[in-house]
Amino acid sequence: MPGYELIGEEEKQAVIEVFEKGGVLYRYGLNDKRQNIFRVDEFEKKVAEKVGSKYCLCVCNGTAAVKLGLIALGVKAGDEVITQSFTFVATVEAILELGAKPVICEIDKTLNMDPIDLEKKITNKTKAIIPVHMAGVSAKMDEIMAIAKKYKIPVLEDSCQAMGAKYDDKYLGTIGAVGAYSLDIGKIITTGEGGLLVTDDQKIFQIAREYSDHGHECNPNLPRGEDTRTIWGFNYKATELHGAIGLAQLKKLDYILEKQRANKKKLKEELENISEIEMREIPSKCCEAADTLIFFVDSKEKASKLAKIMVSKGVGTKNLPDAINWHFAGTWTHIFYSYPEYSGRNLEEFWPQSTSYLRRAVAIPIMVNMTEERIKEVVKIIKNSIKEVKV
Ligand SMILES: *Cc1c(COP(=O)(O)O)cnc(C)c1O
Repeated sequence: MPGYELIGEEEKQAVIEVFEKGGVLYRYGLNDKRQNIFRVDEFEKKVAEKVGSKYCLCVCNGTAAVKLGLIALGVKAGDEVITQSFTFVATVEAILELGAKPVICEIDKTLNMDPIDLEKKITNKTKAIIPVHMAGVSAKMDEIMAIAKKYKIPVLEDSCQAMGAKYDDKYLGTIGAVGAYSLDIGKIITTGEGGLLVTDDQKIFQIAREYSDHGHECNPNLPRGEDTRTIWGFNYKATELHGAIGLAQLKKLDYILEKQRANKKKLKEELENISEIEMREIPSKCCEAADTLIFFVDSKEKASKLAKIMVSKGVGTKNLPDAINWHFAGTWTHIFYSYPEYSGRNLEEFWPQSTSYLRRAVAIPIMVNMTEERIKEVVKIIKNSIKEVKV
């Protein structure tokens, strides 16, 4: 929870300033009262500049950003959208909200979309592909983009967990047609709740923006009450508080990434040579968000036992294995049992490769504020816990 770790005086001042300069919490209008300060607009502009996208839209949460991206790509009821077995349930909920069918692709040793299985899952109903950059690490974007191009299917990058991370020299979220970031409490930077959509495509941005605001076109020549529209939508707007806090957090993004990368490097170097564990594969040479270190042990039983021992010694895990039920499609009977082909079956059998990796995975949170002593202590606890599991 890197952004949350650094919530402090800067965010507090940013909020106070909104109140001192008119107290307009709504993102539009009342120009004089707010002294022409528009924090959400400013935040969107700064995020676009940072990641190098032409457009950015700030909305009320990351799930809404994913859904708006799919709407803008033209996904409709009955269409198929491919995403990966390891993701937060929100990705699949965004697909379901549109009446589209989630088609779940295996992950590989990167714990992200397996390009080989992706190609097998494409049908003539596939309208979008959503690779998810889980725990700050990119999917194999070269391979995924090549397949997407071959079949002419747009890619939405669910980068909710990977703001600021890169694949080679491009920021995650800016490689496919559209990208989404989350600003919830667990993410790289946070506004409590919040989401961002980024794209270079004016049309995608326009549809997402209008849909997020009841179809409002924000016609500059008309007051809001007389605004024009061509589509209906919903309300996913962000408030000025999102904008103000987001701007304060964005200033800390580089520091967060730098610290996490350094801390992860130290931890990884100490653990890499332990023969009982194997590290997750990282596809890009550079620039993961580095808020999590994930490794595999050789059985499901060992993974859960190891996690238990580590927790008892004061090192918690992050989602794997503790919250696997919220992050692995193989556990989502509440979703897949409504489809006849899955109904009543053990879902893990549909994704054996994913099951094998995820059930053997242990994820360690990397904190921004980790002292040298704490890193050493964590290493020691992990090493001792591994020894204990063996006997
Ligand atoms: C957090 C998250 C989301 C949803 O974001 P919210 O802001 O919590 O709605 C979507 N996808 C992934 C992979 C996430 O981790």
